[in-house]
Amino acid sequence: KYIGIVKEPNFETRICFLPKEVSLVTKQLELEVIIEAGLGEALGISDKDYETAGARIHNRDFILENSDYVLSINDFHDLNLDGKSKNIIGIFNMLFYPERVEKYLEKNTSVFSLDLLPRTTLAQSMDVLSSMASLAGYKAVLKATSHYSGSLPMFTTAAGTLNPAKVLILGAGVAGLQAIATAKRLGAVVEVFDVRKSSAEEVSSLGARFIEVEGYEEEKNAGGYAIEQSEEYLDKQKKLIQSRISIANIVISTANIPGKKAPILIDKQALDAMLPGSVIIDLAAEQGGNCELTQNQKTIIYNNVTIIGDSNLTREMSQSASQLLSANYYNFLKHLINSANEDDVIIKGCQVVSNGKISHPQLINKFE
Ligand code: NAD
Repeated sequence: KYIGIVKEPNFETRICFLPKEVSLVTKQLELEVIIEAGLGEALGISDKDYETAGARIHNRDFILENSDYVLSINDFHDLNLDGKSKNIIGIFNMLFYPERVEKYLEKNTSVFSLDLLPRTTLAQSMDVLSSMASLAGYKAVLKATSHYSGSLPMFTTAAGTLNPAKVLILGAGVAGLQAIATAKRLGAVVEVFDVRKSSAEEVSSLGARFIEVEGYEEEKNAGGYAIEQSEEYLDKQKKLIQSRISIANIVISTANIPGKKAPILIDKQALDAMLPGSVIIDLAAEQGGNCELTQNQKTIIYNNVTIIGDSNLTREMSQSASQLLSANYYNFLKHLINSANEDDVIIKGCQVVSNGKISHPQLINKFE
C-alpha cells in the first residue's frame, strides 16, 4: 500500500511528514511512501534525504491517483477521487469550513481531520492542535516583543528604573499557558482571563494572576472545551477585560470555541482605553478573532495600538512545527492501520467522512 505526500500550497511553510517518520513507516508499518519532488524544499530537506529514508519520488498526479493514504496539512482540490479508495488525513477544520467536505461525498473516500481528535491522554501523541498551540503561544510572545517598543523585564540602571511590562492573556488553553510561561521567563507581569475556572490553578502555578467573572455556565459534555455564554455573563466579562486591558502593554488572545465564531473579548471601547504603543496578538483570528478590529493574516494599527491577527504563527516556526506534526501524523497513521476495533474512539472522533458519507455527528448537524 502507498502513503502519498504532495507539496502544500505556497503559503504553507510546514511539512506534515519528515524523513525520520518515512523511515519509521517503511520499516515498522511496511508501507511504501511516495512523495512529490521538492516536498522538503521549505526546510532545506532534499529529495535525496527522503529517498535515503526509504521514499520514492513520483509526480503529483501519480501520487494523488494511486495513494491509499494521502497526508497533507491543508485542504486541497486536485485529488483524483474517481480511482481507487483513499484515506485522506489532514487538518481541515471542517466544523468551521463545512463546505470543504462536499468534494468527498459519494466517493470511495474516508477523511480524517486531526483537529477533531479527542483531547484524551491516549490521543495526546497525535494531538496536532496541542502541538501547534503550544508553539504558537510561545511565538506570540516573541512576536509581540518585537512590535512593542518597551522592555519586558524590569531594568534597574543608574539612570533610573524601568517597570516590567504588563501582559494580559485571554484564554488559558494550551496556547495561553505557553504564552504565560514565555512572558514570565522574559520578566513580564502576567494577568490571565479564562471562562473555565478549572484553568485557574494552572495559571497560578505558572506565577500569573488569574482574573475571573462570576456566573460561567459549565457544560460537562463539552470535552473540556468552553461553550457559548449568556449575554449577562458576556457583558460582565467585557467590563472586567476593559479595566485590565487599559493597563496592559501586550495582549495575547487565544479564546476559541470549537467550530464556532471566536468570542469578541476586546471591543472598540476596550481598544480606545488601551495604552499607546501596546500590542495585541490575536491567535483566534481565523475564527473571526477576539478583537473587534482583527483582520486575519493582517497587521493593523488603530489609535497607536498594533493588532496582529494570525492563527498560524507556527508557519514562522516551520522547523519545530514540522517535527511535531510529523510525529503526530505518524502516531495517528500507526493507530489507524493497527486498530482492529471499528468503534475506536480516536478514529471515530476525527473521522469526518466514511466511504463518501459524512460520519461526524457535529458535521452532520451543520448540514441539517
Ligand atoms: P481552545 O483553543 O478551544 O480555547 C482556548 C482557551 O480559550 C480555552 O482555555 C477556553 O476555555 C478559552 N475561552 C473560550 N471562550 C472564552 C471566553 N469567552 N473568554 C475567555 N476565554 C475563553 O482550547 P485548547 O487550548 O485547545 O484546550 C481545550 C481544552 O482541552 C482545555 O481544557 C485543555 O486543558 C484540554 N486539553 C486536554 C488535553 C489532554 O490530553 N487531556 C490536551 C490538550 C488540551
